[in-house]
Amino acid sequence: MTTTRFAPSPTGRLHVGNIRTALHNWMLARKAGGRFILRIDDTDAERSREEFVDAIREDLEWLGLAWDAEERQSERLERYDAAFAALRAAGRIYPAYETAQELELKRKIQLGRGLPPIYDRAALELTDDERAAKEAEGIAPHWRFRLDHGEAITWEDGIRGTQKFDPAQLSDPVIRRADGSWLYMLPSAVDDIDMGVSQVLRGEDHVSNTAVQIQMFTALHAAQFAAQHDGTGPVPAFAHEALLIGKEGKLSKRLGSLGCDTFRERGIEPEALVALLARLGTSLPVEPIADRGALLETFELSTFGRAPAKFEDAELERINTAIVHHMPFEAVRPRLPHGMDEAGWLAIRPNVHTVAEAQEWWGLVTGPIAQPDFTPEDRAYLGEAAQVLQWSENPWAGLTDALKERTGRKGRALFLPLRQALTGMDHGPDMGELLPLIGEDEARARLARAAQG
Ligand code: GLU
Repeated sequence: MTTTRFAPSPTGRLHVGNIRTALHNWMLARKAGGRFILRIDDTDAERSREEFVDAIREDLEWLGLAWDAEERQSERLERYDAAFAALRAAGRIYPAYETAQELELKRKIQLGRGLPPIYDRAALELTDDERAAKEAEGIAPHWRFRLDHGEAITWEDGIRGTQKFDPAQLSDPVIRRADGSWLYMLPSAVDDIDMGVSQVLRGEDHVSNTAVQIQMFTALHAAQFAAQHDGTGPVPAFAHEALLIGKEGKLSKRLGSLGCDTFRERGIEPEALVALLARLGTSLPVEPIADRGALLETFELSTFGRAPAKFEDAELERINTAIVHHMPFEAVRPRLPHGMDEAGWLAIRPNVHTVAEAQEWWGLVTGPIAQPDFTPEDRAYLGEAAQVLQWSENPWAGLTDALKERTGRKGRALFLPLRQALTGMDHGPDMGELLPLIGEDEARARLARAAQG
């Protein structure tokens, strides 16, 4: 059973990078007929806010990424305590007493000597007496996970291929603060175990976390903290996708602030965002595919590249326009102007970039419209048009055929004054579709009004 999760921290709104991670995890689960979990990483009580939890849910709903279960880290603290106890008993967790300033100083010295800034494990060397002395001074410890320096940490990454880390080149991570609160690393591993997560897909900024977490999975398994995953061993499969970059070629602030709310305001359809993000950074062509089934069929981690994926607004807009042009009436109905029916939508659809723009074009049908000034010849021509207008299956063809014959006009001279008189515009939706929507009486009245000048 494939189980994936999307694990946002509710400290802000989702941005386009998070949305992409959510989408890919949803796709992995749906494609495999598995489960997709929404996990709220809210162990940081100070920065987490309920309004962001709500916003995350709303965004996922708007995107159409339904989740099968929701979990909250703040409700699972007992499990983290249990894991902590098990790992501590197994000698994999130790107390450390350095202040932030002391650690910073150590880092600076190491960097100054050209050494990697790896924690020197000084706290591991403390004797019982030294520890007791620290505590007598009122210094509460924070806690580190002791990495096993024995063997290289390796995994077969679904996107990056074979990954290999020397644990001695990593710092023992701080997992818990002196006040007892949790940092990200251990709770996430505990959750992945308890929730049966079989596949972790996230950004490549987490690659070194994965190395550490693999040792946590293994250590928790060895401590018999939890039963093994169904047949897959204690460690889930991992894949890390290349980060998104903006047009400027780097991780821009702008991308970090682009969320579902801004997309929605701009008239971007969720299907456009999904179509783009599903394939951006893969070897598959980005196309305006509104059918999720079709996107799922071709979704494969093996198509993901390792180069950063470039997110461009112009591309999103191009896809959005193409998707809007094919949206059926039923899908847009509640967002259309009052009175606009299916024929109206189908006539106007090819001319809009967003559904909201239908409002402007619909105004041409309902009126009132502002007509330009016409020359005396055009006024006479439009007067004739008001007379010959006859209602039929296709009144526009009837009108223009009759006028062509009677006046000898053709091309622009034939069509443009009519369009201008009937809509007030030089361009716009197909007149053959628009004229029936305007209606016979109103059309004749517009032509007659133009003729009068
Ligand atoms: N809350 C973490 C983040 O947003 C989750 C990372 C993960 O997927 O494990 O980065």
